[in-house]
Amino acid sequence: MTDRSPFETDMVTLTRYVMEKGRQAKGTGELTQLLNSMLTAIKAISSAVRKAGLANLYGIAGSVNVTGDEVKKLDVLSNSLVINMLQSSYSTCVLVSEENKEAIITAKDKRGKYVVCFDPLDGSSNIDCLASIGTIFAIYRKTTEDEPSEKDALQPGRDIVAAGYALYGSATLVALSTGQGVDLFMLDPDGGTPYGARYVGSMVADVHRTLVYGGIFLYPANQKSPKGKLRLLYECNPVAYIIEQAGGLATTGTQPVLDVKPEAIHQRVPLILGSPDDVQEYLTCVQKNQAGRQ
Ligand code: AMP
Ligand code: MN
Ligand code: MN
Repeated sequence: MTDRSPFETDMVTLTRYVMEKGRQAKGTGELTQLLNSMLTAIKAISSAVRKAGLANLYGIAGSVNVTGDEVKKLDVLSNSLVINMLQSSYSTCVLVSEENKEAIITAKDKRGKYVVCFDPLDGSSNIDCLASIGTIFAIYRKTTEDEPSEKDALQPGRDIVAAGYALYGSATLVALSTGQGVDLFMLDPDGGTPYGARYVGSMVADVHRTLVYGGIFLYPANQKSPKGKLRLLYECNPVAYIIEQAGGLATTGTQPVLDVKPEAIHQRVPLILGSPDDVQEYLTCVQKNQAGRQ
């Protein structure tokens, strides 16, 4: 959220970049392994998204997920790709996916120390009209010695180790932060010509637009959705982390999103994020309005 375009980042390959960062961090290589597995899943989803028409992947799978969305074939495919890649990376113990009511516990012999919350395909109601869709994820450390359970995923966004999203737009882009700013990577830069939209209706696309051009993105509470619509663990927290790392603000209207103490894995919160000035102005307006009503 600075004047500098984030696209000035060197376009080194993401795998190489992640490995280099891992070497600098002098870690065991577990997080590097996790990030690279996530990237492999993202590349596979990207290719499925691009081939969707040809491979007969458009259309519904015939069920409804935990948050009431109609499940698309690409949701199912993306979800299994992410779960399989993460479980075979030997770096995870608990996974929370938008598509699974219960947290997924990694088999004992494949366990590692990280907890991952993800939306395998955000904006999937847009699939059939070819609008941009994305993958969102946040990674935490397991903080207790207890048997892994969904409790391990109920950590505030403040404790995120790394978070990011992929946007399958005119090209596939990955935004990633491991706590020292945000880096953007294009996976297939010759994938088409960029097009503009002010409101895409796919959260990850709208958030990315806000990251690049500034301004504000809002999904506040309203009468129909008193807690907003977006899910804290795998939608709001990862993007709030990215936006804060880029110098912006992300709030529920009453507190920073990253400070919310989660109570349930699929809980919703209002989300307002973007350039600090715009978010601050929103908060001021809301406060004035509330004061006026009292
Ligand atoms: P690890 O032992 O690989 O799980 O890493 C230990 C810690 O070092 C991680 O939780 C991160 O804080 C940091 N780290 C490890 N690998 C990376 C990486 N590739 N990029 C950024 N930070 C990393
Ligand atoms: Mn979503
Ligand atoms: Mn989804």
